[in-house]
Amino acid sequence: MIDFRSDTLTSPSKSMLNAIVKAKVGDDGRAGTDGRGEDATVNELEDAGARIFGKETALFVPSGTMGNLVSLMSHTDYGDNIGVNEKLHVYRSEKGVFVSRPGGLKAEFYKSDEFGKPDMEELEKFVREKSVKLLCIENTHNFAGGTCMTKEEIDEICDICHENGVSVHLDGARIFNASAYLGIDVGKLCSKIDSVMSCLSKGLGAPVGSLILGSSDFIREARRNRKLVGGGMRQAGVIAAAGLVALEEGPKQVAEDNKNARKIADAIISEQGALKIDHRLVQTNILRVDIADTGFDSQKVCADLLPMGIKVSPLTETSFRLVTYNGIGDAEVDKAIEILTGYSGSFKK
Ligand SMILES: *Cc1c(COP(=O)(O)O)cnc(C)c1O
Repeated sequence: MIDFRSDTLTSPSKSMLNAIVKAKVGDDGRAGTDGRGEDATVNELEDAGARIFGKETALFVPSGTMGNLVSLMSHTDYGDNIGVNEKLHVYRSEKGVFVSRPGGLKAEFYKSDEFGKPDMEELEKFVREKSVKLLCIENTHNFAGGTCMTKEEIDEICDICHENGVSVHLDGARIFNASAYLGIDVGKLCSKIDSVMSCLSKGLGAPVGSLILGSSDFIREARRNRKLVGGGMRQAGVIAAAGLVALEEGPKQVAEDNKNARKIADAIISEQGALKIDHRLVQTNILRVDIADTGFDSQKVCADLLPMGIKVSPLTETSFRLVTYNGIGDAEVDKAIEILTGYSGSFKK
């Protein structure tokens, strides 16, 4: 079975497991006089993350969801307005900050295009009229199909926000996929962003964990909020050790994942059967496959593909999502192309 449901399906590499065995650990939930935890490996991971992203400090959190939650809490007070779009992961899938417990923030929606990029014409008016404290963006954009915003686009968003006293939080769960596609390192890409959440546990391949990155003041607040929501961990060096390897090995892997997704997309597009992919959305490791021409709904198509050896997840009524990661190598790509083009072609009269 080739499982394309998500890049959360990675299993830790040999080098990660070796690093885990050797990890120096301490109590990360116990802060020293410098405000940092006592786990040397967690501190090493946070320092490596801060260096890579060009931010003052970083904080290790158990998940991307908690990373976003803690970041948004740290930028705001209870009841504040936050600019989001309905299709952002933080709104569609996480929601935690927008319900009365534990978040209490109010979502105000900005318009965005089909790539997930905010409507620049309206952005200034939006942040002023809705008096938002913070604007959330996502890169790559999960729901849009792994699409990227360029550094120029991100910088323009940040300039507009900053001129109006609004901070910008980037949900960068897959920022390294964007970095590989755009050919620019994550530090440059995020230079104007106030806070970034980056998952170690997706394409980068670590079993657990995410980083949030930002100024020292922001991270001090984030550390308090992490504790508040129960995210203080103890000998977390055991998982941070794998995170360090992920930062080292992962960026090369996600570049491969992007290429593999493109190879599958190109084959499906050139088959010209019932499965359709918008080539403009083929950028990183997520493919949105439109199945309307099969005449079936996505539940049925996903169920049909299962006995053929392919696991994908329904995205909307008329589309499914396919994601590449380190478990999908050349053999899996070739096999998937054979199955998917065969299925797609079988609807031709
Ligand atoms: C997966 C994901 C998250 C949440 O990360 P978890 O570690 O699964 O909690 C946040 N944002 C985006 C865009 C994601 O794809």
